[in-house]
This record gives sequence, structure tokens and C-alpha cells, in this order.
Amino acid sequence: AAPRVAVIGGGFGGAACARALRRLDPRLQVMLIEPNTTFTACPLSNEVIAGLRELRAQQFTYDKVAADGIVVVAQAAKSIDAQARAIGFADGEKLSYDRLVLAPGIELRFDAVPGYDEAASVQMPHAWKAGEQTVLLRRQLEAMDDGGLVVIAVPAAPLRCPPAPYERASLIAHYLKTRKPRSKVLVLDAKDNYSQQKLFEKAWEELYPGMIERIGLSQGGRVTSVDAATNAIVTDFGNYTAAVANVIPPQKAGHIAEISGTADHTGWCPIDPVTFASKLVPNIHVIGDACIAGGIPKSASAASAQGKACAAAIINALAGKPPETPRLDGACYNTVAPGYAFSLKGIYQPKADQYAESEVTTSPVAASRDVRQREAEQALDWFKTITVDAFG
Ligand code: FAD
Repeated sequence: AAPRVAVIGGGFGGAACARALRRLDPRLQVMLIEPNTTFTACPLSNEVIAGLRELRAQQFTYDKVAADGIVVVAQAAKSIDAQARAIGFADGEKLSYDRLVLAPGIELRFDAVPGYDEAASVQMPHAWKAGEQTVLLRRQLEAMDDGGLVVIAVPAAPLRCPPAPYERASLIAHYLKTRKPRSKVLVLDAKDNYSQQKLFEKAWEELYPGMIERIGLSQGGRVTSVDAATNAIVTDFGNYTAAVANVIPPQKAGHIAEISGTADHTGWCPIDPVTFASKLVPNIHVIGDACIAGGIPKSASAASAQGKACAAAIINALAGKPPETPRLDGACYNTVAPGYAFSLKGIYQPKADQYAESEVTTSPVAASRDVRQREAEQALDWFKTITVDAFG
């Protein structure tokens, strides 16, 4: 019988992997396990928060994935028996596999910031998984009085999409500048430095002077507790009361990673960078935000590239061939205002058992508005390409 490859998680990594598996070997039986019938994409969701884009532009179904001959199982995986090579579901059904790919994305650590649990996230949205939370944050901004303080709490690394908190601060400032100009954005950050910092700082000076303040780790920016009842945010050095509080908690690999035994003490999954094979459990590969991929930022670009490279590695392994060394391309666009974006592009390859960046190019700090405009257009093209890749 044809080998059976199951993929858990139909996001950027899992969907791209499942489709690549079928493309590379149409005889394979490929199953994609994903409880949601509609996927809501995070890239460009900061535009939704700022009222520049509708949530439905972020949503994709699995119809085309199924049309490729992939069996789409609309349920969450609840257990994994690595010995028996079987996935368990809530209804007691089981699904067997020869190889399993885990692409469950992230779990928010609701135990990491005292006062911030799932119930608190209804008052203080994280909006770090797109969907209801994205809309909630947008509605809170719409309901806020002019002059209000919007606080964005940013966790320490590693996190999903490292530059996205600052893109969010920028686009919220854009909304406030046009609708509620007496309001301010305060970024409380558990890091001192961040990705593309110079470009963000320049854009803030140029577009939003005096509107965005950032307090980094050394100045006491780390959030130590919150109180959802009063919208209070406490840091090492001060207390703040937000009109709107966007609390992004620390993260770890999606829960099924922990259940399967593929996550280590950090909460993330160590892998062999050449094949994405788990270092802890045989016949399981881990891709996307959930895996530990060295210098590659956790992004949709990375998840998609890893999904395709992992598919190729599985095909080789099933054929008894040695793996090829992957070369992953990543691009990350940050849009800070309509028609104003910059990017970071990288090529990543395994080196000393980990991914290292071999070439990274960032947009120049000094560039004309034409260049920024072009990058804003490229960001939209990038989104189109990556979503067509994953969802057809
Ligand atoms: P996901 O895309 O999150 O997919 C995981 C899937 O697994 C989900 O559909 C989930 O339902 C499913 N799942 C989880 N557990 C189970 C289970 N037990 N059984 C079955 N299914 C399960 N990246 C970029 O490249 N560019 C950007 O501009 C960008 N902007 C961003 C902006 C924001 C605000 C945020 C929050 C993120 C952004 N990202 C961006 C990052 C990007 O969204 C993630 O890195 C990417 O989605 C990771 O892909 P993934 O496949 O690992 O996880």
C-alpha cells in the first residue's frame, strides 16, 4: 500500500507541506488534520486591527486542498501514540500513519503573566491568533475615547513573528492619528532590541511624531502582572492604566507537541534541521512556529518553506534516499502605514545542527517614499503568493 503521511495543523506550514507531499508523489496518502474549516491568517491582520482591511480577506477554506486529493480531517488531534504510529481523536477514532508532520503553530502561555489567563484575554486581547481576537481589539480601538492610552505588552523572545508587535504599534498609531489624534501608544517590551528597530524608529519619527513611546527591558518595560478588571498593567518600574490593553503573552509550541513528547523543557520542539525530524520522537517531523529553527524567525514564510523542505525530506526517506540539504528563503514585510512598508529577506541553511542565516537583506533605513510604496505593494503580492501556495 502507498505510504500514509499525516499532517497535524492546516496553517501555513501544514497546508504547504501536505500539498507539496501530494505534488512530489501523487501516490502518497496524505491526510491533513485541522479542526477549523476556515483558516484565518495572521499576516496582514494588523491592518484589520487598524480598520484598513476586513477579516474576510484573511480567511481561507480547505476546498482546494481537498481537491488535490488530500484527505482533510476536520477534527483536532487529541493524542499521539508514537509506538503504534496512530493519532487519536476526541470521539475515540484513530488514524494510523507511517510518517507524521506536526505543524500546530503556537499555544499562548496563559500561566506566564500573573493575572493574564484566557478569561482576561477577552478584556485584554492578545490578537496573536487571528480571528475573534483580532476583531475584538479593533472594536476596542473603535470604542475608545480620543485621548486614550493604548498599551501593547510584548514578551521576550522567542515569539511568533518578532517584528509584528511594532508593525501593530505603527498601524494603531495610524488609526489614532486619523481618528483620535490626542491618543497615544505605549509599547511595554521585555526586550531591549528588536527586529528592524532602526526602520521602525525612523518611520515613527516621520509618520507619528510623539505618538508612540516604547519602554524596553532595561528601562523596566517587562510586564510582571495585569489586572483585567481595571485594565492595569504592572511592570518592573511602573503601573499603567490602559484604555485599550493588547497583552501578547509568552508562547510555546501548540499543545499537541507537548502531548506527543516532541517539545522539550523550553516548550518548543528540537529538530534535525536537514529533515525536520523530531530529536525526541521517531517518525515525527515538526515544522513552523512549533520547531526550534535557530536563526529563522517564526513566520509564515518560514513555516511554508519548512513545509516544502520537510515534504521533500519525507519523500527521500520513504524512498530510502539520503536527504538533501535545504535552502530556505524567507521574506518578512512590515507595513507601518498605507503605502509604506519595509522588509527583511533571508536565506537560511543548516549549519552545525542548527539553522543559520547565510544572507540577510533589510530595506535601507534611508529610502524614498517610492521605495516604501513599492514594498507595500510587494507585501500584498507576497501574501497572495503564500496563501495560494498553502490553500490554492
Ligand atoms: P499556524 O499558521 O498558526 O497554523 C497552525 C494550525 O494548526 C492552526 O490552523 C491550528 O488550528 C492547527 N492546530 C493546532 N493544534 C492542532 C491539533 N491538535 N490538531 C489539529 N490541528 C491543530 N508571518 C510572516 O511571514 N509575515 C507576516 O507579515 C506576518 N505577520 C504576522 C502578524 C501577526 C499579528 C502575527 C501574530 C503573526 C504574523 N506572522 C507573519 C507569523 C505567522 O502568522 C506564523 O508564523 C505562521 O502562521 C506559522 O505557521 P504555522 O503553520 O507554524 O502555524
